[in-house]
Amino acid sequence: MSIQLFGIPVSHGVAIGRAVLVASSRVDVAHYFISPPQVEMEVERLLRARDAVAAEFDQLKQELPADAPAELAALLDVHLMLVRDDALIGVARNWIVERHYNAEWALSSQLEVLARQFDEMEDDYLRERKADLEQVVERLLAALVRSPGEPAGGALPLMNARDFAGPDPVVLVASDVAPADMLQFKRSVFTGFITDVGGRTSHTAIVARSMAIPAVVGAREASRLIRPDDWIVIDGDCGVVIVDPSPIMLEEYRFRQRHSELERARLDRLRLTPAVTLDGQPVELLANIGQPEEAAIALQAGAVGIGLYRSEFLFLNRGAELPNEDQQFEAYRDAVRAMQGLPVTIRTVDVGADKPLDRLTIQELRHGHVLNPALGLRAIRWSLSEPAMFRQQLRAILRASVYGRVRILIPMITHEVQVHATLDALARARRQLEEAGRPIAPVEVGVMIEVPAAALHLRPFLRHFDFVSIGTNDLIQYTLAIDRADDAVSHLYDPWHPAVLKLIALVIEQVTAAGKPVSVCGEMAGDPAFTELFLAMGLRSFSMHPAQLAAIKHRILRADAQRLSTFLNEVLNADGPEARALVLLGRPGSH
Ligand code: PEP
Ligand code: MG
Repeated sequence: MSIQLFGIPVSHGVAIGRAVLVASSRVDVAHYFISPPQVEMEVERLLRARDAVAAEFDQLKQELPADAPAELAALLDVHLMLVRDDALIGVARNWIVERHYNAEWALSSQLEVLARQFDEMEDDYLRERKADLEQVVERLLAALVRSPGEPAGGALPLMNARDFAGPDPVVLVASDVAPADMLQFKRSVFTGFITDVGGRTSHTAIVARSMAIPAVVGAREASRLIRPDDWIVIDGDCGVVIVDPSPIMLEEYRFRQRHSELERARLDRLRLTPAVTLDGQPVELLANIGQPEEAAIALQAGAVGIGLYRSEFLFLNRGAELPNEDQQFEAYRDAVRAMQGLPVTIRTVDVGADKPLDRLTIQELRHGHVLNPALGLRAIRWSLSEPAMFRQQLRAILRASVYGRVRILIPMITHEVQVHATLDALARARRQLEEAGRPIAPVEVGVMIEVPAAALHLRPFLRHFDFVSIGTNDLIQYTLAIDRADDAVSHLYDPWHPAVLKLIALVIEQVTAAGKPVSVCGEMAGDPAFTELFLAMGLRSFSMHPAQLAAIKHRILRADAQRLSTFLNEVLNADGPEARALVLLGRPGSH
């Protein structure tokens, strides 16, 4: 029977495929596809782990003191029975052979299936045996860690299409996926994804959009209700997930899928057309990237530069070790080279909040946890608390400057004292390189405006920085006091809120009046619903995921910026829904 689940649409389009479940965080294990020649070895690994755990139980049983309670021996018998049971090991083995899951993934998937069966049991005693099963699987997973296979690593590595055995397209269903793991999707087989948690501008959602794969987040119970191999339709436009769709539904969605592919192909033809409004105003369309390899994709999509290179992805998923100066330099240089002289805006590391480092911060070491990560030691606050690391990053960026046109962007700055500390660190990094005889080219330094305090008091930033980039994702979060990653309050995360629009308009106006360039690099820049409004505010530089460039260009080509600007005051003085209606009035064909 088909069921529908509702979540937050975060990446457009329709995906149809069979469900691949990544088990909940209860069992935090590596998930990857093995290649066909590795299947036999992986099955061996699983069976070795089974034998090792069974031997452990046997030994424990033999060593039981004579006066041990009888229940203990009985419990060990249950565990021994479970570890040898075909419903666990036999089926996990099939996952490896048929689906090419690694052994840990196969085991944890089968644990999910069996755990659900236990949950449904009427008999209390039997239902409680679920805990035994979990303990047995935990032991098996620990035994697998002791017997490493290839290629292992962090969560979700290496989901290569060539390694995947199944003939049908697959969609990923997970409780949550960390931003760093999401990057692995770039090389993956998944045609869509669904998570139980997350909001529209959580970093997981941002990465999904950058890959243009349909996605729904915040679907609450999805990973519990969906079973492995279920057929799934993801409607990334409406936030609907259909499990086990009827043939008629499937036909309808296949039609929509073809339609959006055609639409995308049509927009792609605009790739090389310059972005100029109907009244002749040129608009700069830049790309947001997270990895150097994406620079080529940005160029291919027609971007005239990189407006935001999120350098933090280099810092995530690497255990306690951070990238050294040379490793960073190489990544920055590769992006700069790929852009062939076009500007590359490298943002200094923005870790913290929903992009935590694997390594604990000093604050976490001291307090054991972070009280409120979104308001804590993130972005420039963290960089300034780690001066040696910060200078190292600045040196790496400066060294890349000789390979093209580099701009440095500082995230989440609010206080003038941070401005001075940042510029001092930069001057020191520059001096160190000069003393070492390393060549450096001129580099512009810009500031991200993402906190209302900074938007309302721009003077210190305008005085010291060369350009401004508005980070609307955080500006909305901090203006409305809504955690952008929390699906429980995502309905209140409203980019149309008059306070948000006023702040953005204020920043664009003041920066433009000061004769400095201003851009928007948050998700609003890539949302066609806001293109006319931004043009009306005087914005002439947008930065977004490469996949969104064509749709925004399409809107710009049909817009009359001069005419739109006459609506601005009315829009800014309207309340949320009215503002939306007024923007529609400014659209071509509506007058
Ligand atoms: C923003 O806050 O709008 C932004 C672009 O930065 P990030 O999404 O990486 O926080
Ligand atoms: Mg931000």
